Amino acid sequence: MSKSDKKNLVIVESPAKARTIEQMLGSDFIVKASLGHIRDLPSSGMGVDTTDKFTPAYVVPKDKQKILREIKKANKECSDIFLATDPDREGEAISWHIAEAMGLDVNTVQRVIFHQITPEAVSEAFETPRNLDIDLVNAQQARRILDRLVGYSLSPLLKRKLRWRGSLSAGRVQSVALKLVVERENEVREFIPTEYWSIEVTLHPKAKPQESINTTLHRLGSDKKRISIQTKDEAATIADSISKSSFTVTDISKQKRSRRPAAPFTTSTLQQEGWRKARFGTERTMRIAQELYQGISIGAEGDIGLITYMRTDSTELAAYAQKQARDYIEAEYGAEYLPKAPRNYKTKAKAAQEAHEAIRPTDITRTPATMRTYLNRDQLRLYTLIWQRTVASQMTDAKSETTTTEITAVEPTSKKDYILRNTASATVFRGFTALYTEGSDDEDEDISAPPVSLSAGDALTHVNTEPSQHFTKPPGRYSEASLVKKLEEEGIGRPSTYAPIVSTLVNRDYIERTEGRLTPSKLGETVSALLNEHFPDVMNISFTAKMEEELDEIARGERQWVPMLEKFYSPFATTVSTVLENAPRIDVTTDEVCQDCERPMVIKTGRYGPFLSCSGYPECKATRRIVTTLGVKCPNCEGDLISRKSKRGRTFYGCSNYPECTFISGRRPLPTPCPDCKGLLVAARGERAECSNCDYKGLISELDEEQVAR
Ligand SMILES: [Zn+2]
Ligand SMILES: [Zn+2]
Ligand SMILES: [Zn+2]
Repeated sequence: MSKSDKKNLVIVESPAKARTIEQMLGSDFIVKASLGHIRDLPSSGMGVDTTDKFTPAYVVPKDKQKILREIKKANKECSDIFLATDPDREGEAISWHIAEAMGLDVNTVQRVIFHQITPEAVSEAFETPRNLDIDLVNAQQARRILDRLVGYSLSPLLKRKLRWRGSLSAGRVQSVALKLVVERENEVREFIPTEYWSIEVTLHPKAKPQESINTTLHRLGSDKKRISIQTKDEAATIADSISKSSFTVTDISKQKRSRRPAAPFTTSTLQQEGWRKARFGTERTMRIAQELYQGISIGAEGDIGLITYMRTDSTELAAYAQKQARDYIEAEYGAEYLPKAPRNYKTKAKAAQEAHEAIRPTDITRTPATMRTYLNRDQLRLYTLIWQRTVASQMTDAKSETTTTEITAVEPTSKKDYILRNTASATVFRGFTALYTEGSDDEDEDISAPPVSLSAGDALTHVNTEPSQHFTKPPGRYSEASLVKKLEEEGIGRPSTYAPIVSTLVNRDYIERTEGRLTPSKLGETVSALLNEHFPDVMNISFTAKMEEELDEIARGERQWVPMLEKFYSPFATTVSTVLENAPRIDVTTDEVCQDCERPMVIKTGRYGPFLSCSGYPECKATRRIVTTLGVKCPNCEGDLISRKSKRGRTFYGCSNYPECTFISGRRPLPTPCPDCKGLLVAARGERAECSNCDYKGLISELDEEQVAR
């Protein structure tokens, strides 16, 4: 066989992507998958020579040796080799490792880049291969080594300084994320709710007694500021006075509002919206997005990537995608919904050079409806979100008009006057909201019905005055998605690193996920406090953000990676040895108090899992089991339901009056009573709630949010 008859070899990272690309490239190409990194730092030991320019000792792990042999063998039979891994630092590094491990010349090996797996994009990319971008590779190496230095120093340190039998480890970015969760928990714990009252007044126009208008006391007639009522007595006095008043419309003002559509998806906003709209965790969102990106079989057209690359912090759209969206909008919605020019969105995150385009459908004419038969439920859900978000981003603003009606109440005897308000909002033009509206993390939006038509000077009669009590609310705990949002705002983490952060912390038992909300465990709080005390830099948000920026600079070729690591490592290593030598060993403490001597209890781990032990040990040998009250009353008696562990470590729920009361449930009781029978609801699969007493079934998220948040 002459050289020209030989095939070309293409290497990508995953079998699904290999299959899609092989179809597109045709019979002259063989496509092999490396299954991720073929070479990496060793799984045991530091693997980095800190005395010699942080030289990494990369190894080919056992499970990758066979793949490497296969790729090498295929290469012998092929004429040319192309490295076509994903278009970012991680992908660049995978290609570089493959080239190094195969003994190819890393300066001349052909690297192929595409941001979407479509026949056009792939063939164009193969016509214009480039060399490996060593700056991108170095940025990835620097991150990998940095994380290794931190992890391999802090993990043994935790084991020495914490009295804890379970496994302990700490990562660089995860530790900062843990700190954010702990800080939020402290805010929630320290929050003191303040009582306040509002007064709702229902009136009807004298001219139209069959209609009514709901108003709220806004301020005293003599004041400009909104009224604040702290006590029940105060509220009752004012309510009494208002109910004796006469009412006149004194002001009607209208305000127009415009709302812009949200920018096309980045990794972070996709993860946030995946949670808000579909209750997908960040890793699930990324897994589904990867399936859509790597190729789905769509009938006669074969396998094709339905969305662009899902790890990006860019909000830009290709001109042809904007055009497709505009054509669709004009045809389906009409010219009114089409802005004069395509809408462009500024990328917020400081874009590194690999950032290319937002996450969008590769072809907008493939509507969710036409893709329905080719996608599973999750894929369709996410594809629909991406498709709608992309098209909506090219539509006109939504316009609404807010009408504020002010009614003056005058009490005849005291001549006291009160200003009551009704605020109503009406959509004037739907714009992009006809297709898609971004979800909100706090579902507090007030949508009031438009008021009956009134004019200034109209008289009204009193129907009802109702004071109601409120309490200020603590800040909400993070969801996985709102934590990602926070990390992005603070400049910590990058598109490729957001998703595993929470699951890593959950796997380490540092944080717990309850109804999608994140709370730190006692272990997590202790680890966070220990690291915070001794490693203020590593735990500092702006310090970590600055390191991310420096990694971006390395990726852009503006910074050398070895000096960057040196600058970090030498003070860090000094602190590590000082702490190892001087810091005392500590326990995982709790807020619980010893039943015998009133010293605080600490958590110990025994054969059957964690238990509470007196911190006065060995003087006081008191122990007791860990009891978590759920804030739910026992359905059989007056006791509290508590979470307990069986001897095998399974969690179950029982009554605090055990053994007198033998109530037991394997499923977690929920604080909201059954809407049908007021019986006990328990959590079921898929974030559902089921009644233990009747046939009621529902979604936990649809129950009263406030109560479920425990
Ligand atoms: Zn004690
Ligand atoms: Zn009971
Ligand atoms: Zn029920």
